[in-house]
Amino acid sequence: MVRCTALQAIAPHFYTAATLDLRDDPDEWQSVATFAGVDADRLRLLHQVHGRTVVTATGKPWILPEADAVITDDADVALVVRVADCAPILIADRRLGVISAVHAGWRSTMLRIAPAAVAALAGTYGSRVEDLLVAIGPSIGACCAEMGEEVVEAFRAAGHDAPALQRWFSRETGKRPHLDLWRANREQLEDAGIAGGSIYLAGLCTRTHHDVFHSYRAAGQAAGRMAAVIRTGAR
Ligand SMILES: [Zn+2]
Repeated sequence: MVRCTALQAIAPHFYTAATLDLRDDPDEWQSVATFAGVDADRLRLLHQVHGRTVVTATGKPWILPEADAVITDDADVALVVRVADCAPILIADRRLGVISAVHAGWRSTMLRIAPAAVAALAGTYGSRVEDLLVAIGPSIGACCAEMGEEVVEAFRAAGHDAPALQRWFSRETGKRPHLDLWRANREQLEDAGIAGGSIYLAGLCTRTHHDVFHSYRAAGQAAGRMAAVIRTGAR
């Protein structure tokens, strides 16, 4: 279990590790719900599709939506994203208590999912960027995120400029480009108006530390999943 101390002061949350596989075992999901302090039917999971759709969660019955980010102001639900190398990004508004959970793999990062979640918080609840605090949890680091040239091209085609591509993709001689998912998301959030000092990074690479975390790159199809879970804070 990993927590961000700064975020915890605003919104209760946690990132699970490899001690849970979180595939189909309902008992494991029950333990996540118990730890979050909600009934299992109040966990708000997504059918994650590596897009940029943001949905709003309520206490009403939940039909798994196709989305990669979710926001809420409902104190009775817990937002959940599942990852194994992709970046789990949790956001909380220290003024309003509203929250978001974001699943940011390379595709959703290319599509600017984190700023989309910030815009949804602003548009739906009136969040101000100066009140938002962000925690980027354990996920694949630039050390291990080797990508093909087509990924760089896809980022370019999505409108990211050459300086950004240079910062986000390292190019050591003779090696394929490596994507710095953490930096790309941090810079997009900063561009959206969030102060750098309000963005906290776990800095733990899931593949490097695959004894502790689940990593798709390390384990392939057999990889378990980790959950990032957050609830609204006190107002
Ligand atoms: Zn690594």
